[in-house]
Amino acid sequence: MRGAQGDLLRLVATGQAESRAELSRLSGLAPSSVSLRVEELLDAALLVEEGAGTSRGGRRPRRLRVSPTAGLLAVADLGAHHARLALLDLSGVPLVVEERPCDIALGPEATLDWMAAAFDDLLRSHAPPGVPLRGVGTSVPGPVDPATGRVVSPSRMPGWNAFPVADHLGAHYDLPVLVENDANLMAVGEARAWPGCDNLMVLKAGSGIGCGLIVEGRLHRGRGAAGDISHVRVRADSSAMCSCGHPDCLEAYASGAALMGALADQGFAVHRPADVAALVADAVPEATALVRNAGRLIGEVLTVLVNFINPDAIVVGGSLSGAEPLISAVRAAVYERCLPLATRDLEIAVTRTGPDAALLGAGSLLLDAVLA
Ligand SMILES: [Zn+2]
Repeated sequence: MRGAQGDLLRLVATGQAESRAELSRLSGLAPSSVSLRVEELLDAALLVEEGAGTSRGGRRPRRLRVSPTAGLLAVADLGAHHARLALLDLSGVPLVVEERPCDIALGPEATLDWMAAAFDDLLRSHAPPGVPLRGVGTSVPGPVDPATGRVVSPSRMPGWNAFPVADHLGAHYDLPVLVENDANLMAVGEARAWPGCDNLMVLKAGSGIGCGLIVEGRLHRGRGAAGDISHVRVRADSSAMCSCGHPDCLEAYASGAALMGALADQGFAVHRPADVAALVADAVPEATALVRNAGRLIGEVLTVLVNFINPDAIVVGGSLSGAEPLISAVRAAVYERCLPLATRDLEIAVTRTGPDAALLGAGSLLLDAVLA
């Protein structure tokens, strides 16, 4: 599956093409050349041809699909206390999604070995016979150096700094391995639900705060830490120390971890960020006030970025995204403070993809790695 064949398969897998004519138009290859390669992909059982495609008059074309037996991708979205795990087909359609408790504070080796065992377990239970695993990927809740697959100076991930996550996971599988920051994967997964929006900021509001950036339709990684807004200074009174060792970072006031700490100090039993959203849904005033303040602080940081990048949409995901006052406060800050031209058609909304966004993003980037 390399070169032109991989390119054609990717166009079908991502839903951009379903006929030889569309493949020829999008790839720039001659129709005869496309037909030859499609026949090879059909013979190799990587593509199948079925039913009738979208007709524009004349004979109804048959529709090309990636074969459900072409392969599987095993992907994980790793959080501080839970991981979502999935098996996807090469088109990114989940065969199974499960959430299992885990603890990244046990360190990288224990966590990644646990993950590999969980993947093996899912494959045993859910993989159709004879369908090969083609790639493995995971998010991590910290900055990742894209050149090495190592985590670099993450907050709240003791023992993970500089750990070669991709190499360690790769030792379990002789396959392409993807390791990427969680907000980046969420952005890639979310982007497919926003057709026509080429520039997206996808905020992950969970235990931490992250932001993934889609520019001109592609993930913008920068040097690996692009979009990391958690350590922007938002106050000047040194009233809260951040996990990074500096005072007054956004994360120290507005992250799920900070909100849980503040609510626990007031006697509330909160164990995960979703508990904060649940208190807000129950109209608990202390929780609502804290979340509204968090949204305002996040919104004020985003005003700078909105003026600078001019995105088409800001999408809020993560386990705090269900708290409506968070979104309203972000909207209020951005609409009030940004330039009119930047906000005129700007949409600020909750995730359309839901909790599986990072898993779908992992599948999308992993397919690129498998076909590279
Ligand atoms: Zn910090």
